[in-house]
Amino acid sequence: MAAWKGSSVLITGGNRGLGLEMVRQFLESPNPPDQVFAGCRDPEGPRAKCLKDLSEKHSERLFIVQLDITDPVSIKEAAKQVESKLNNRGLNLLINNAAINLHRTLDETDSDDMMRCYKTNVVGPMLMAKEFLPCLKMAAQSSDLQGMCCRKAAVINLSTLVASIEKCPETFGMAPMYPYRTSKAALNMLTQCLSEDFRKEEILCNAIHPGWVKTDMGGKEAPLDVVDSVGGVFQVLSALTEKNAGQCLDWEGKIIPW
Ligand code: NDP
Repeated sequence: MAAWKGSSVLITGGNRGLGLEMVRQFLESPNPPDQVFAGCRDPEGPRAKCLKDLSEKHSERLFIVQLDITDPVSIKEAAKQVESKLNNRGLNLLINNAAINLHRTLDETDSDDMMRCYKTNVVGPMLMAKEFLPCLKMAAQSSDLQGMCCRKAAVINLSTLVASIEKCPETFGMAPMYPYRTSKAALNMLTQCLSEDFRKEEILCNAIHPGWVKTDMGGKEAPLDVVDSVGGVFQVLSALTEKNAGQCLDWEGKIIPW
């Protein structure tokens, strides 16, 4: 079990699916982070009900932050709000979890579908990394930990097996999904770029495939539930070091080829 005590984490799309389960598992771990920031585009809306219930139970360490990752103004505001609560200790872990999937074959896909997926799944995580970089740098500089790890400073991007170009001949038939696959393949390149860029600051950047999971996005027929997926993802996160910088790993720690 990872020890997150003393750290701060931010998860985008923290109101349902894998994001909500990450928030829950962070808070309910024996050594929870000092601060858990849950991004949510509509904190007052019905889809935020479970997150709000959690925040009543964990009011001392869970902070709900209004955050629409397709809106640069919302991202800037969220960065200011989070920074004001960090007490100059920086943000240790940013998890870019929020995303959309459009189940579209080539026939069904138009340019608007492609642009919507790109904007949410690639531009959103890019702007998040850019706006939160000062907080991540502060965390890296103020940490006593040697090397690179998620307890010190890291950006984790939720990717997917179906973004793997090498695996496409195996995975395409069951899930054509042109807008989603191509946007997540671009997210993988973003992960590599950030990893190279941030290495000198000792900020880790990785992509993680959570498995095929029962959520609104994954559907009811998915083999994994959120508890097992997030449990696995957290074990992988807690073991990451500079040796893994830039890799895409699945929830069991296996490397996913680009
Ligand atoms: P869900 O569709 O269940 O949840 C998506 C989350 O993202 C929601 O909280 C949603 O908020 C949020 N979101 C979407 N757009 C925005 C936006 N513009 N701004 C802020 N938040 C937004 O997805 P999952 O939990 O299944 O997936 C989480 C991550 O894991 C994704 O990156 C996905 O690609 C990846 N993944 C999932 C797999 C699966 O099988 N489930 C497999 C492989 C990867 P709202 O409620 O406001 O819509």
